[in-house]
This record gives sequence, C-alpha cells and structure tokens, in this order.
Amino acid sequence: MLKSVVLKFANCVGESGLFRSLCPGRVPVFMLHRVSDSGEERLPGCMNSDILRSHLDYLARKGFQILSMEDLRAMLDDGRHLPSKSVMFTVDDGFFDHHDVAARVFGEFGFTLNFFLITGFLDLKLWPWDDQVAYALHRAQPSKVQVKMPSGAIFPLDLLNNEINDVVYSLRSRLKKESQSELYDWLETELYPVLKVECPDEIPPEYKPMSWDNARTLRDLGHGVFPHTCTHRILSTLPIEQRQTEIEVSIKRVAAELRYAPEIFAYPTGRLSDYDEVDVEHLGKHGIKMAFNTVPGYVRAGQNCFELPRFSLPCDSDDFRQIVNGFEAFKMKLRGLAKPAA
Ligand SMILES: [Zn+2]
Repeated sequence: MLKSVVLKFANCVGESGLFRSLCPGRVPVFMLHRVSDSGEERLPGCMNSDILRSHLDYLARKGFQILSMEDLRAMLDDGRHLPSKSVMFTVDDGFFDHHDVAARVFGEFGFTLNFFLITGFLDLKLWPWDDQVAYALHRAQPSKVQVKMPSGAIFPLDLLNNEINDVVYSLRSRLKKESQSELYDWLETELYPVLKVECPDEIPPEYKPMSWDNARTLRDLGHGVFPHTCTHRILSTLPIEQRQTEIEVSIKRVAAELRYAPEIFAYPTGRLSDYDEVDVEHLGKHGIKMAFNTVPGYVRAGQNCFELPRFSLPCDSDDFRQIVNGFEAFKMKLRGLAKPAA
C-alpha cells in the first residue's frame, strides 16, 4: 500500500521529466513475450492486448520517441548521448501472436518493434523447450513422481503440495543448470512418458510460431527481425560446436528467408550465466554487432554492445511508468552510489 502511494507520487514527479534529467542518456529496451486479445489468459506470462495498448497510448500521449534498432545502433556506434525520452521494444521467440496481435497493436500507433526468432521454431522443427515443460506439467497424470534429469539427478516433482506454476518455474530453473545438449530428446523420452502425457505430433495451436511469410511482412512494415538461435537451448550449457551451429545457422536462416544480413542477436533466456565470451566471439565472426541479454537495466552510450540489457514489459502501468519516466534509473543510480567501492 505504502509502496504504491510512493510509486504513484514518484510517477507524478517523473512525468515532469525530473528523473530523466537527473539520469540522462538512458533508454529502456522492453521485452515482451506473448500477447493475446482474449480476456482470460491461458498462458503464463501472456499480456492482454488492452494493457499493451494502454502502455503505448501513454507513450504516444506523452511524446516519447520509439527507437528503431537502426536508430539505437547508429547512436551507440557514434558514441552519441541517447535521447532520454525514448524507448525501444523487442519480442522474443517468434510465436504467431507476435505477428497477429503485437504487431497489429504497435501498428495502431505507428510504432515499430523488434522480433527475435528461434529459427528452428519457424522451420517447424521444434517448439521451445521451456513451453513444452509447462505444457507437459499442466497435463501431468501423476501428481507426485521422480523425474530423472538429463544429468541423471532426480527431481522430485510434487504437484499435490505445490502450485503448478511454481513447479514449472523450479523444473525450468533446474533444466537451465544442466547440459542442454540432449534436451529435446530428454523431453520426448523422459519428461512426457514419466508424466504420462502424450508428446504432441504437431505444435499445439496455442504454441504455434509465425510463418516466414509473416516475418517478411513484419520487416516490410519497418519492424526489425533478427535471430535468437535455432533451438532456444542455453548456449553456455552446450559443447562449443553446438553453440557455433546455434549462432551460425540461425543467422543464415534469417539471412536466407529475409534476404538481408542480420547484425543483431538475442541470447536465449539471456541471464549473464547463459552465454560467455566464446559466444560473443562467434557472433562477431558472423557479422553480429549488437546482442541483447535479459538483465534488467537501461541501455547507455559506451556500453558493451554484446551485453545490452532489457526490462521485461510490466503489466502494471505504475511499474511501466517508473521505468520510462526514469524513477527506476534514479533508484538504480542511488543503489550504485550506496555500493561500497570494490
Ligand atoms: Zn527466448
């Protein structure tokens, strides 16, 4: 309650531009996941399109500049000070709703966004492992079972005494720490059978990707379209050759389908531990000039272009406004000042 009062007050102050002038040159880059028009959201983390529309309407009314990837790239290349009253949007993975819903809502405002595509997903070879974990757990027959992880360790799955979404989260977290080399085989041969769930022959409708035609349309409309690996496995868990393939093949697939050479990339799951300098080197070798992770923070001039941070797009309008109006930047600055010097 107190937090929300303080936040509302800070956002009123923030609208005057005070925090942006105290912390200039910071651009929030937002990351969306799924967007839907229906009132009742079946997928965890799915944003209702009315909420998205209200965020964009706020930016339009307040005169924010929506940066394209080219704008950002040019500014970072020149070491130019980034315009404070600006934002950029990205959306990861390449689901159908990114084309059908998100792009349509952005189009209503004449705003562009940037799509990072799992190329094996658009090629209909797979659907993201993290979504398959959620899909399988939501249909699990036994409520308590020992799951043998790819490493051979046992994950005691208990849907009787835990919230389903907590179990999804903890199983995914465990899988992020394991070698993901054989992850898709493991889903088929271990997870689906032990949960007594039929492994779908086809990607279920709610998890379908957009088509490559959709991706071309998005680019023709002025949106950015870039690679996000072939399989969405976490790079740092893979042997070197597989990491190279993930990077090289996904860049080549986007280049072939979109007929241009992509220079931007986003790391799967994107925590600092999910990639390292080996991947950065491969990216550079294949023409990538900028890469995004998912560490919350603002993009600033002079930053390492292969470690650009992003904020998850919040549903709550106060949480959203505190990021775009710089109260979040101000708090980060204070926290940085409070940190003892190393
Ligand atoms: Zn992703």
